[in-house]
Amino acid sequence: MTRTAVVVGAGISGLSAALGLHRAGWRVTVLERVAAFGPVGAGLVLQANGLRCLDALGLGAAVRERGRADTSGGTRRADGRWLARVGPGELARVLGTPAIGVHRAALHEILLGALPHDVVVTGAEIHAVTADGHVTYQGPGGPVRASADLVVGADGIRSTVRGLLWPEAAAPTHIGVTAWRGVTPAWDGDLVVAISWDRGAEFGMVPLVDGRVYWFAAVNAAPGGPAGDERARVRDRFGDWHDPIPALVAATGTVLRDDLACLDEPLTTYVKGRVALVGDAAHPMTPNLGQGANQALEDAVVLASVAGRPDGLAAYDRQRRPRSQRVARASRAVGRFGQQLENPIAVAARDTVMRLTPPRLALRSMARYADWSPPPLG
Ligand SMILES: Cc1cc2nc3c(=O)[nH]c(=O)nc-3n(C[C@H](O)[C@H](O)[C@H](O)COP(=O)(O)OP(=O)(O)OC[C@H]3O[C@@H](n4cnc5c(N)ncnc54)[C@H](O)[C@@H]3O)c2cc1C
Repeated sequence: MTRTAVVVGAGISGLSAALGLHRAGWRVTVLERVAAFGPVGAGLVLQANGLRCLDALGLGAAVRERGRADTSGGTRRADGRWLARVGPGELARVLGTPAIGVHRAALHEILLGALPHDVVVTGAEIHAVTADGHVTYQGPGGPVRASADLVVGADGIRSTVRGLLWPEAAAPTHIGVTAWRGVTPAWDGDLVVAISWDRGAEFGMVPLVDGRVYWFAAVNAAPGGPAGDERARVRDRFGDWHDPIPALVAATGTVLRDDLACLDEPLTTYVKGRVALVGDAAHPMTPNLGQGANQALEDAVVLASVAGRPDGLAAYDRQRRPRSQRVARASRAVGRFGQQLENPIAVAARDTVMRLTPPRLALRSMARYADWSPPPLG
């Protein structure tokens, strides 16, 4: 008999989990609360581990075509001085594949396009779920009840599934950092992947395939504050940083803002009965290692590869929890050592260490979390 799965949420984790399960022969329904998909978010860096998962899902070539492979890059100071540099193709030589910068909308479109058109139900916000696989969501004509052999909670950092079935888990807490993201129109000028750091602030830029540039910025700040002219806020904070930062911000239309949060206490299991959590629902992490979506892709492929076994969900938890929580911890540590560091003496010491670190060692530490390969699917 065909096994059934309900996936809650159609972000990167939900769509990739749905695709993996569909390829493994499951009948899948994805319930997504938004009524229609718009151009999603800004950009994203997919690293070797995430790209290998996309290869396993049969989408690696399509995503690489819409992404731009890293050429060279590194870390700079706010005045533009380089602290660490990686030459063209060096990361690819270590990992066998380069990282790529891609627009989130392109990745989302590719994932969505790979699923049969009737799999994703939009405008379906779930508000109840049980460990034995029953889900209730709000349909156009009132509440709808669905049941499945497997429920996948892929509903993001403020996960309803986690809130209902993991009542013992504390909600994600703000880490004292606000981030902004934007994408410029086609950019005239040479540009490499770079992150620039100052005291308590960073600005990163990633060229995209069509000449546009994805950028992100972050500062130490208390959460909240009224939504306002976010572009003006970034301009005021980064207006005197090295070129082309002020021009990139000035050229950007929509600027997205997030008050960053993660779980202080990691979950003790990603599985309850027939329910498994994936992506940010399972392990919300800071973006400092650029691994959140890459880990979500790992979850998806591992889940699809084991879910059909009698002990499948236990195996999923065993394989995914230690690694994803290690990456989340490391990401937080990188944030504290990098963007969040404010003390001028500590910043000067960090910059010196970075300048003196041999490129080979810097490369190895960059490759450390990205060097992972998924199990075969199906
Ligand atoms: C500034 C910043 C930069 C980042 N950069 C990178 C990077 O370079 N590389 C990287 O790998 N990661 C990066 N990340 C992390 C990455 O964005 C996330 O880890 C990833 O998008 C998580 O995907 P997800 O599908 O788990 O969650 P989401 O993208 O949040 O998707 C959840 C989905 O569930 C839906 N949903 C929510 N509640 C319900 C409900 N009750 N019923 C039905 N549907 C529901 C939502 O509408 C949404 O569509 C970054 C994050 C930030 C903040």
